[in-house]
Amino acid sequence: MTQILRMSNLYAPTLKEDPSDADIDSARLLLRAGMLRKAASGLYTFLPLGFRVLKKIENIVREEMDASGAQEILMPVLQPAELWEESGRLNDYGPELMRLVDRHNREMCLGPTHEEIIVALVRNELRSYKELPQNLYQIQTKYRDEIRPRFGLLRSREFVMKDAYSFNATQESLQETYDEMGRAYGAICERCGLDYREVEADGGQIGGKVTTEFMALAESGEADLVYCSCGYAADAEAGACLARPTLYEVDAMEKIATPDVHTIAELAAFLNIPESSTVKALSGKDAEGNLVCLFIPGDHELNELKIEGLVPGFTLLTDEEMLAFGLCKGSMGPVGLPEGARVIAATSLQAIPQWVVGANEDGYHYVGARLGEDFQVDEWADLATVKPGDCCPTCGLPLEGARGIEVAQIFQLGDKYSRAMGATFMDEDGEEKPFIMGCYGVGISRTLAAIVEQHHDEHGIMWPLSVAPAHICVVPLTVGDNEVQPMAEKIAKDLAELGFEVVIDDRDERAGVKFNDADLIGWPVQIVVGKRGLKEGKVEMKLRRTGEKKEVALDALAEMMGFARRAMRDNVLHGAGTGAFAAIFG
Ligand code: ATP
Ligand code: MG
Repeated sequence: MTQILRMSNLYAPTLKEDPSDADIDSARLLLRAGMLRKAASGLYTFLPLGFRVLKKIENIVREEMDASGAQEILMPVLQPAELWEESGRLNDYGPELMRLVDRHNREMCLGPTHEEIIVALVRNELRSYKELPQNLYQIQTKYRDEIRPRFGLLRSREFVMKDAYSFNATQESLQETYDEMGRAYGAICERCGLDYREVEADGGQIGGKVTTEFMALAESGEADLVYCSCGYAADAEAGACLARPTLYEVDAMEKIATPDVHTIAELAAFLNIPESSTVKALSGKDAEGNLVCLFIPGDHELNELKIEGLVPGFTLLTDEEMLAFGLCKGSMGPVGLPEGARVIAATSLQAIPQWVVGANEDGYHYVGARLGEDFQVDEWADLATVKPGDCCPTCGLPLEGARGIEVAQIFQLGDKYSRAMGATFMDEDGEEKPFIMGCYGVGISRTLAAIVEQHHDEHGIMWPLSVAPAHICVVPLTVGDNEVQPMAEKIAKDLAELGFEVVIDDRDERAGVKFNDADLIGWPVQIVVGKRGLKEGKVEMKLRRTGEKKEVALDALAEMMGFARRAMRDNVLHGAGTGAFAAIFG
């Protein structure tokens, strides 16, 4: 029998008012429900109920990882900086890396991720292709000195992550592990009750070209996503941009006076054409200081990741630098650019043979500037950030947009770390080769917050059964009553014996207070025991998610709940298990 939680002595101080510094629903509700407390910026304490949820998510992750054949280990949080020097990330990682010095003056850091430690581990241990593949994981606290810790658990400075690292002999073997991790991550999201999408992404600080993010769909999410009915989905930061510029055609190139027009919006309004008929010009310089001029569809934004990949060290020109190069801010265009400028344009602009662009003269623009006749382009590339309405790169249909919370990401690292740190194995052909690596992270505490973002209403949290701090809350309406109280205790005990996690609200509080707290905390099922009901041999059962209420005869309760318990056991391994009680209410 599981232990029965008692609200009378549970450390779960609920708050009537919204905390003033909660900047997102999940943080507000977790604080109000007495599950979480803020210790300092980006640092949180999990109170008993919050900690129970965290452990449940951890266990779901652990079960799926173990089922996939990965093995759990525990690495140190504190890491010597030399290892980060070896991998070349000590500088690359930047100020997000929490650094400190020990008493012997040795440089240390607090792990934001563990590629360095694990490569140093296996380079002395794994020797032969016969020992591969290996996939090792841990569940541990990570540190990142985020520039703006915010949104509660979604972007904190200390957070719980599951990180796994695979060591493979070949790319094919890596692909197998990667696919298996992708499958496991899908199962984790489903079991946590998340509405999610797998999206193409960018490698960021971790590195690696092939990478997928798992995004919990939420308006409050920081990530912009695009997706298509054909199944394609991408993080807008990383997705290919196939814009659809609108052709604005005239007989010949014409210079038009455009007084006070300096932005795309002003230009489009002045000419009474859509922004997608204009071409946006940007000027910058490469690492050597050479002029680079960029042209993208007027209704799109330059993508920093893409330009950095194309022109390493690219920076936009300041107003002074533009003047020095002889460029005209607000009226720049491809016709008559300075000698030696490298001209790169977005490939999608090839669709319009005539451009509406700046005339490189303050107060003037061209319409009908002809590609290949009035101006030349040196290179065509994917430069802009994709947005809804652009063409799907897989099927060509217009893309849809959504926002998401990145709860997990998987990467194919290749030999980036093993090569830098000299981690090799003896292959079948007798040759020493660097390990082919993958890494796989789930943000456990971020997932907890993402679940709340998706599962709440104006009254509080609505936990999926699979991660709820307890399944059922028994609410005696009058504590101390010599019928109500003992019956509530008996029901709680019977339910615990069936294997449910049960809480009893044995506080001497008004019914309204108990109901409000039960809704706020979000117990999936409430069983209300009152004097009047008992007279007729009945209790009231309420489902938090739907608000449905039903009177249940006491002598039918055990059988019904036994049925629900079996349904939940069957269900819980596949989904979030919320359907388990549907039969009772159906
Ligand atoms: P983001 O882009 O949101 O900063 P990331 O891509 O840098 O995240 P990863 O290095 O992929 O994060 O880490 C794996 C997982 O750890 C993420 O998918 C996310 O769930 C979680 N995570 C990362 N940073 C934080 C943070 N500051 N607070 C809470 N969870 C985090
Ligand atoms: Mg990530």
